[in-house]
Amino acid sequence: MGRIVLTAMEEIMGHHGVNAVLNLAQLRHLVNNYPPNNLERGFTFADFSAIQETLDEMYGVRGGRGLALRAGRETWKYALKEFVPVLGITDLAIRMLPLGIKIKIGLDVFAETFNKFSDQRVRLGEDERGYLWMIERCPVCWQRTSPTPCCHLAIGLLEQALDWVSRGRRFRVEEVACIAAGAGACTIVISKKPIA
Ligand SMILES: [Zn+2]
Repeated sequence: MGRIVLTAMEEIMGHHGVNAVLNLAQLRHLVNNYPPNNLERGFTFADFSAIQETLDEMYGVRGGRGLALRAGRETWKYALKEFVPVLGITDLAIRMLPLGIKIKIGLDVFAETFNKFSDQRVRLGEDERGYLWMIERCPVCWQRTSPTPCCHLAIGLLEQALDWVSRGRRFRVEEVACIAAGAGACTIVISKKPIA
């Protein structure tokens, strides 16, 4: 998963851009040496969040946010290639389901995938605002403090995943609470109905 994120970041910032981030984040061991292409947990949450924090330092909070969102969306495209064969969610039977049910099943499968293949812990819920994607152990903001929610990469990833499940519809995806800002879980609200 770490390799996928770094590869996705390259797509946006270029190889040199990613190297600059890794150097500034004190992660020189990863420069030109991404984790191998396997499912081992060789990429720590500390490394992951250091990269996110460095994006904000280098590009400012707004610029860093934009880059992290795009990196999240790009991450989905690579993740799809790697994980969909494992998950078998392209089943025609699922494709023909009504949109609302597809979204629910999609979120279930994504959460399960994180819980199974990483140390990230995701719990699902829902309330009057929409579906709740609650990250109880979050690699994006691991050991960070931030006055406002800062798990932008997770948002970009979810946006693109929902785009894929719904075949191009857009949903409101918003982080309303963040561990880095003092909450118990990073909570992302997803509108139940598409906005476009
Ligand atoms: Zn977080």
